[in-house]
Amino acid sequence: MNKTGKPIISVSGVRGEVGTSLDIRVITQFAMAFGTFVGGKTVIVGRDSRTSSPMLRHAVLAGLFATGCHVIDVGLCPTPTILLMAKALRAHGSITITASHNPVAWNGIEFAAASGNLLTQTERDELLRIHETEDFALAPWDAQGTIEIHEDASAYHLEQILSAPWLELDLIQRTDLKVVIDAGNGAGCVISPFLLRKLGCEVIELNCVADGHFRRSAEPTPEALDELCKTVLASGADIGFAHDGDADRLVLVTEQGVPLSGEWTLAFVVDFILGKTKGDVVATVSTSRMLDDIAANHGVALHRTKVGVGWVVEKMHEVKAVIGGEGTGGVIYPNVHHTTDGITSIAAIVQYLAESGSTVTQLIENMPQYQMCRKKLEIPSQAVATRLVDAALAVYEKEQDAGTESILDLTDGVKRVWNDRWVNIRKSGTEPVIRIFSEAPTPEEAEQLCNETLETLITLMKQISH
Ligand code: MG
Repeated sequence: MNKTGKPIISVSGVRGEVGTSLDIRVITQFAMAFGTFVGGKTVIVGRDSRTSSPMLRHAVLAGLFATGCHVIDVGLCPTPTILLMAKALRAHGSITITASHNPVAWNGIEFAAASGNLLTQTERDELLRIHETEDFALAPWDAQGTIEIHEDASAYHLEQILSAPWLELDLIQRTDLKVVIDAGNGAGCVISPFLLRKLGCEVIELNCVADGHFRRSAEPTPEALDELCKTVLASGADIGFAHDGDADRLVLVTEQGVPLSGEWTLAFVVDFILGKTKGDVVATVSTSRMLDDIAANHGVALHRTKVGVGWVVEKMHEVKAVIGGEGTGGVIYPNVHHTTDGITSIAAIVQYLAESGSTVTQLIENMPQYQMCRKKLEIPSQAVATRLVDAALAVYEKEQDAGTESILDLTDGVKRVWNDRWVNIRKSGTEPVIRIFSEAPTPEEAEQLCNETLETLITLMKQISH
């Protein structure tokens, strides 16, 4: 990621490293653009626990006041809580101050449109246009913005989760679960331990002080969860939970202290929700094949989208899906709201575990078994990436004509799908790399698929550069 260059402006907002690539003036200017975009109306503002978040908050407030917005500040909250409040309070938009799973030195802002919905392409284009042309609708001296502090956001989110129709508090309480929650000193600290206690679990807290000094990586990768795994084992807990910095993701650790990828959170939740409500499921093209099997078992359709929460949400609206998400551990519960929500995931997983009467390891054993492999190929520029993906597609199309048994799926990059395995190549939106993801019944087969694809790409890249 660029350390000294410009901040990254992406589909969700603006991010950079504080003190180097994140220029605070850009934040104020984007807040002015957003205030203009919402017509000077009501905007929800909330922030994660990073030490730089109060500084960003001032910059955001300045931009919103200057454009005459009324700000409802919900304080330090997870991203899903902030978006839920935008929906509950029927705000015209929201700004979330967070860098999600990026390192602790990073920060940024994310935008949502009316009622906490992610911006559509048209809305995003309009916001960027206002920002680029500095077409700000500045309010006169007697119409400056105002602020009110809303202190009950977490309580409201908890209330919404606890009223979920699939939750049986007395069953969970009878199950006597012991759990460890590792909120990574992020925004999840202010809500997840409380939810677990309300559910009647015995709770051991790890990294649950929201002081913004992350004691592990903000991204809850298996490697980052060593302390959580050890604590689960040492305490004899039934399960370990971990969030990313803004708690829209949840990943799990088994009772044997084994960290799981976010694919398992989504697989368990999809199986659980489909057991309660039959309906369509939506996931990205690079999410585990487990979902195809789970959806088939429940007799429902699975829809695949491009990689990115926005695409999943859009499809979920379109097909009226009952559940959806990404393999990062971000699950979307349309009954609560259309955004990834790591807090609601805790309640769903606890209920699933209590109902099953099994250990997490047993739940895994009862699931379809696949192994994933992820690699990336560094490339000189985005333009080369496009040419390379096109060249690879031409090679695979030729193979198709020659009669191979794979199917080509062009939803995002190129995905070759066989009966029990797949491999997907696609350009990264943020880095000069091509990502190669594969999944197969064994780790060796998954790695072989990744390596073969990587070799094809390297050969093609040599041809392109000559
Ligand atoms: Mg996040």
